[in-house]
Amino acid sequence: MTVIDEAGRTTRSVVHTACTLDCPDACSLAVTVTMTSEGRRITDIDASPDSTFTDGWICAKVKRHAQRVYAPERVLSPLIRTGAKGAGEFREATWEEALGLVAHRMRGAIARSGPDAVVAFTYNSSAAVLERASFTEAFFAAVGATIAEHTICAATMGAAWDSVFGEMASADPREVVHSKLVVIWGANPTVSNTHFPPLVQQAAKAGAGVVVIDPRATAMAKRADLHLAIRPGTDAVLALAVANHWAATGRLAHEFIAAHADGAEALLAAAAEWSIDRAAEVTGLAAADITTLAEWWGTTRPTMLRIGWGQERNSNGGAACRAILALPVLGGHFVQRGSGVIGSTSAGAAKPRARWPQEAFPGPPRRSLPLHQVGQWMAPGSADPCEVLFVQGASPLVMCPHQQAVVAAFSRDD
Ligand code: SF4
Repeated sequence: MTVIDEAGRTTRSVVHTACTLDCPDACSLAVTVTMTSEGRRITDIDASPDSTFTDGWICAKVKRHAQRVYAPERVLSPLIRTGAKGAGEFREATWEEALGLVAHRMRGAIARSGPDAVVAFTYNSSAAVLERASFTEAFFAAVGATIAEHTICAATMGAAWDSVFGEMASADPREVVHSKLVVIWGANPTVSNTHFPPLVQQAAKAGAGVVVIDPRATAMAKRADLHLAIRPGTDAVLALAVANHWAATGRLAHEFIAAHADGAEALLAAAAEWSIDRAAEVTGLAAADITTLAEWWGTTRPTMLRIGWGQERNSNGGAACRAILALPVLGGHFVQRGSGVIGSTSAGAAKPRARWPQEAFPGPPRRSLPLHQVGQWMAPGSADPCEVLFVQGASPLVMCPHQQAVVAAFSRDD
């Protein structure tokens, strides 16, 4: 909708767009922009009426996002450090001066040590697709700079998904309303996927059972028919015990496995070591609850698995993800409407580096370093040269493990 005044000026318009925050809901937004005495300003952000998934409402955080856009604390111009690192002393600078300084430092590092010495530490999880994938990545690809490879936060789960399902996309979350059993494993949708719980409730009202596997008593867990408060780091054991139970009780989908899966024998051989009683000891769960999970999941159709990322953040996290993802395959929980696996719904988004393949900027292969080990490879005296670290859309001191090492690395006096 656009409102035009008598002089033909647009005084108010509603822009339809999508939320770019790193959230599986990807809400459709209607943003009202109004001409005010301070210029064009966002005066309202709400759900766009056009999306069935957004369903007419958005989270409070984004509803108030205009406050953040116009917050007096917001940094709107470049700041150049004037004091010691960590002292918080900066002066404002023009963009020309700031960009000139960055270019000067990069040129110097490349002249001394080659493009490897410049490291692009970009994350941009809440940037829009084009912003995330376009000029910053193209620039560093053209320079030949080192890539700080995304090795934390969903990287393990992503690798596990690819190894089990290849290119298969997540099931559409809206399909869950057709499920008769919903298994939510390592996810807290009430907090981080807020449009999903109402769909689960809809399924529950229609008679679906709900199982939540999470060490914490989340809001979803409190409402579930079965909550398995698993000991952190033992998810692979639970998944293998379920597989073993299915093998022993004739619940395996042999035809489906023969038609669609490789490696099931090896997996079942590993699972054979995990009786329900032994799994109960390791996971801290009651044997009866594990049996209930295995029986419900083995006998109910259609069943939907909503897998999150909780289980990946432990030792053997990748193995846990793979073991869990194998269960719908072993049980043949696909094809029928309301069955399948809901994982990351961003699989359709363009992947930043996939947009700028090596061939686009011919040159030697670029070096890559694991992002989560920045505290090691940027440490003074490290064998991996890093003379310029360019951080965009990321907060290394907050997001990377071994924080003391990260602080020490960022305190380098060069
Ligand atoms: S729930 Fe909030 S953060 Fe998530 S997509 Fe919707 S508006 Fe964005």
